[in-house]
Amino acid sequence: MAYDFDLYVIGAGSGGVRSARFAAGFGAKVAVAESRYLGGTCVNVGCVPKKLLVYGAHFAEDFEQSAGFGWSLGEADFDWATLIANKDREINRLNGIYRNLLLNSGVTLHEGHARLIDPHQVEVNGQRYTARHILIATGGWPQIPDIPGREHAISSNEAFLLKELPKRILVVGGGYIAVEFAGIFHGLGTDTKLLYRGELFLRGFDGAVRKHLQEELTKRGLDLQFNADIERIEKQADGSLKVTLKDGRELATDCVFYATGRRPMLDNLGLENTGVKLDKRGFIEVDEQYQSAEPSILAIGDVIGRVQLTPVALAEGMAVARRLFKPEQYRPVDYNMIPTAVFSLPNIGTVGLTEEQAREAGHKVQIFESRFRPMKLTLTECQERTLMKLVVDAETDKVLGCHMVGPDAGEIVQGLAIALKAGATKRDFDETIGVHPTAAEEFVTMRTPVAG
Ligand code: FAD
Ligand code: NDP
Repeated sequence: MAYDFDLYVIGAGSGGVRSARFAAGFGAKVAVAESRYLGGTCVNVGCVPKKLLVYGAHFAEDFEQSAGFGWSLGEADFDWATLIANKDREINRLNGIYRNLLLNSGVTLHEGHARLIDPHQVEVNGQRYTARHILIATGGWPQIPDIPGREHAISSNEAFLLKELPKRILVVGGGYIAVEFAGIFHGLGTDTKLLYRGELFLRGFDGAVRKHLQEELTKRGLDLQFNADIERIEKQADGSLKVTLKDGRELATDCVFYATGRRPMLDNLGLENTGVKLDKRGFIEVDEQYQSAEPSILAIGDVIGRVQLTPVALAEGMAVARRLFKPEQYRPVDYNMIPTAVFSLPNIGTVGLTEEQAREAGHKVQIFESRFRPMKLTLTECQERTLMKLVVDAETDKVLGCHMVGPDAGEIVQGLAIALKAGATKRDFDETIGVHPTAAEEFVTMRTPVAG
């Protein structure tokens, strides 16, 4: 049968765009449908605007610390509307770049909601298109628990569009988004509380990292409330919100921001017209080559719920394009040693196993740790400390994990990830000459284990 397209991609986000462009580059006839915004979550309501807001929030401490270096500034004044307008302009520019990337690589763009009609057919804006392969790359959507008054809460989607900076905010959750946005709002001057239902936030990160960040955020005056969960939210006559916690406490705030994970975006996608199956958590189930239970339909990125990070969606998109149209270049995505950063203030950067994971996997470990006051702060009043930690296999000497809390941790850990991917040993770290004076050189000068 002759199809309209070799590949029809649903969703022009990180994974979909990467797959479409490369498939077209390999000679395939490709179309992409996008219902909302080119570039997807990362560009519009994710990594990019988030990082711009983190930069914005960071100035507060820069101004404060500059006094130690002889600067005197008038009272700093911050205008949220300017930051948001400038951020929006940059995002518009990026949307245009994504459009050009697609069109210049010969991909047909359909702007509208795509719905599956059958395993080889998609409907967009009332038109039907057939395709040999269909790739679902529809991403995720914020998930807010069904509590009374949830309609008064916002998610990250709305946080990027707030007309005004709230005076008080409660951020709910203990994952990436909650920690990053609590830092953003606190840095910009909002009276911020972070509420997390468990003992300590950032479950899954190294224990020392979680504890260190807790201490640093507390030092900065961020109000961290653990073992706290909301029972209901009520709007008051003056527009403020009354929040009742499960332990009976009542808090007054202007904004409740839920960052409690993301569900797969499958709304009105027409999956029922196909044999695609979902896993226990509701994400699309795929095999190791991203094929769903329906042979002509593949899925990648957040919608398969493996690792919800942009570079992972990109790698999966590339793998699908190669597998379908350039099989001789196909390489499976390696999910080991994925570096990641939490852009809290200060940042977390991490790659490889945590101490807990290494011990649980049966490694006999040696732990190296360094805690110090960054040089830049020595002329300031700021008491912030940096943490660096190496998890080493005592038998093979291989470095299993690198963890950091401190300025630019995300930047530093990217280079370390290459070393770990290449199988670096502690001896390789020891024999590497440092770059002086930097914080990063600590990673090659830790000599005495703090724990075995
Ligand atoms: P998406 O980028 O979400 O793209 C899916 C696209 O499909 C969307 O454009 C959507 O409109 C479209 N779509 C959905 N349904 C349909 C339909 N039926 N028809 C047509 N189009 C449809 N990751 C990092 O690596 N680093 C970060 O710093 C980072 N920060 C983040 C901050 C926030 C606040 C959030 C929410 C996420 C962040 N992420 C970050 C995660 C990252 O954004 C995602 O992992 C990534 O965007 C997933 O890419 P994707 O291609 O799977 O989906
Ligand atoms: P996460 O899965 O990271 O965290 C969700 C948090 O919400 C957890 O602390 C979880 O607690 C808590 N939670 C879940 N359900 C409830 C509930 N019903 N009531 C109260 N608390 C609840 O999700 P995020 O929304 O923060 O981010 C989504 C994903 O996007 C991240 O996992 C990450 O992959 C990606 N991302 C990446 C970033 C980066 O690379 N810098 C930045 C932002 C997002 P518990 O641990 O107890 O389950």
